[in-house]
Amino acid sequence: MKYKLGVVGDPIKHSLSPQIHNIFSKQTNINIEYQLYHVFETSLDTFIKDFFDEGGHGLNITLPHKSNCLRSVTNASSLVNLIGAANTLHSKHQDEIFADSTDGIGLVEDLKDKCLITSANVLILGAGGSASSIIPDLDACKPRNIIIDNRSKHNLDKLVQRFSSAKEINSSILTLESFNEEIDLIINATSMGFSGTFSWNKDFKINHETVFYDLSYSKNDNQTSFLNWASQFSDKYFDGFGMLIQQAAAAFELWTGVLPETKIRKSDLLND
Ligand code: NDP
Repeated sequence: MKYKLGVVGDPIKHSLSPQIHNIFSKQTNINIEYQLYHVFETSLDTFIKDFFDEGGHGLNITLPHKSNCLRSVTNASSLVNLIGAANTLHSKHQDEIFADSTDGIGLVEDLKDKCLITSANVLILGAGGSASSIIPDLDACKPRNIIIDNRSKHNLDKLVQRFSSAKEINSSILTLESFNEEIDLIINATSMGFSGTFSWNKDFKINHETVFYDLSYSKNDNQTSFLNWASQFSDKYFDGFGMLIQQAAAAFELWTGVLPETKIRKSDLLND
């Protein structure tokens, strides 16, 4: 059997997902065909329906379709219902399209050998889709507090309100303005990537053990602007390449039932 898989986005050319899944395929001896699909918003619903009607097994969903893809699904995990977005679709039965999200578990798995989330004060910078998608998995690790800050106060208040009133979330969800303790882990969930010089316009307390993690990642040795900024405070800073691999592994498991080995380096993708 050959699994028909792919990733849908706009733009999509930059995606590393085909290389990652082809490495998983070789490693597990599971036969796949994984394609890039450049799909505009106006064609998204038809594309998803046709893909699964024609025997497709699974899709990764990336920007800007993570929320809008939910129009086309028949069922979703409780996590997707909570965050309102998905990054993985799969179909095990005819006429069924199931939505799930592996971004949060991808982050938590990558952080396992980098820092302890349990009992930590975790600060998230950004209040967009990725901030929302990582909160439930961070919460499941029982941090001391989850603190959020964002450029726009309107989007910050919306996110804080949504998660502080969610019955599934046990952690205190606080704004940085109302927080005065030291931060143990700072996660950059803004989309600043490589644009300009990173800075943050509010102060927070850190210590010499504070870990900095950028959800954005580079494909080579270049550092993101957040990591350039973080390197002046700490030598514990990481980009989101490990999360990219881990979220892909969790999606591969949803599709095939097999969790692949995730020890992949950036250079392995360039050489694939
Ligand atoms: P969204 O567009 O949903 O959110 C963008 C966020 O960035 C908002 O909070 C926005 O603030 C903030 N922002 C944008 N520009 C600036 C700026 N100049 N200064 C301060 N804040 C800014 O994006 P996502 O949350 O979906 O994605 C964020 C990043 O995470 C992307 O780079 C993406 O590639 C990465 N990512 C990585 C993954 C991985 O596997 N490693 C998985 C998922 C995402 P405001 O509300 O004020 O507009």
